[in-house]
Amino acid sequence: MNQTTVNQTVEELLAFFSTPQNVIITMHRDPDADALGSSLGWASYLLKKGHKVTVISPTEYAANLNWLPGIGNVLVYEKSGDNRICKTKIEEATIICCLDFSVLSRLKDLGKVVQDAKAIKMMIDHHLEPEYFAKWMVWDTNAAATAQLVYWLIRKMEPELSVTALFDRQMAECLYAGIMTDTGSFRHSNVTSEVHLTVADLMLTGFDASRVHRLIYDNAPLSRLQFLGYVLSQKLIVLPEYRTAYMVLTEAELIRFNSSTGETEGIVNYGLQVENVVMSALFIERKGEVKISFRSVGSFSVRDLASTHFSGGGHKNASGGRSDQSIDETVDRFLSALPSYQETLLRVD
Ligand code: 5GP
Ligand code: MN
Repeated sequence: MNQTTVNQTVEELLAFFSTPQNVIITMHRDPDADALGSSLGWASYLLKKGHKVTVISPTEYAANLNWLPGIGNVLVYEKSGDNRICKTKIEEATIICCLDFSVLSRLKDLGKVVQDAKAIKMMIDHHLEPEYFAKWMVWDTNAAATAQLVYWLIRKMEPELSVTALFDRQMAECLYAGIMTDTGSFRHSNVTSEVHLTVADLMLTGFDASRVHRLIYDNAPLSRLQFLGYVLSQKLIVLPEYRTAYMVLTEAELIRFNSSTGETEGIVNYGLQVENVVMSALFIERKGEVKISFRSVGSFSVRDLASTHFSGGGHKNASGGRSDQSIDETVDRFLSALPSYQETLLRVD
């Protein structure tokens, strides 16, 4: 990863971690497999080095991640039972590692607490346009996943050790989960030879890659599949003139299907399976707020669309945003913006 920005030398990091530290590791809200997998992989490495490590998720995580090795010790900042202990741990921390996000607003209420904390902040991330809140940054927008950066950093810190001396099966499962999901099971344009070489190395630990895939993707409650059936048959709208597909889910529908956050994950991708479609959007109304997910293929940047119109951001082909307007107003805003993107959408090959 020759374009990785590391604004501290590895020697500085090694010197810092040569004495026992109180480490907090945190990741973006509604964490996905990369956010949690990279955090747990990094946590496992630091624990082995004799540091005290606490992993804090700003919000609850999806049920299909609850098998990740080490997840039983993850504290949830939003949970009343965990909140106090999170605050105490953050006060005691000497370093806060921020993984898989680069703007503090993605921590929800935890953002301000991290910002005000006296500990050194370290960011490990692959998103565009970071807010420069961290003293130390390991940042590479070309990295397919934060988990890949964690692998890279650990190798870099201990070049004399072999892969199997550095990583065990559990760490490999965590990092593999992140890389697998952020590459859409190795099919997105972010897949490079380095991605496959990383995975090849991780597989030397002997973990079962097929099982990781199954636990994440073939582990849904029946209700999720039934909900998906409803969305695809009733809610998927295709606008061929804009090569765009979109779906709108109201709070009432989510309640009707008893759908939790995890159950809407990934649904936006189905829009891209429609022939000729190059952009897919999913609007979800939850707790008075509209969350939007965008996906695209090729040259069309949904990050620009998300940041220009929906105070969001992300990657070129996978982005998200939010809106405080009603869901109808939000969708109208999206539809009114489409003509200005039409030419670019039609040009994608
Ligand atoms: P998802 O659709 O899976 O929620 O988000 C896709 C990607 O978009 C995430 O990996 C993240 O990079 C980005 N993203 C989602 N929501 C937001 C947001 O509210 N703000 C920013 N800056 N990025 C977001
Ligand atoms: Mn990621």
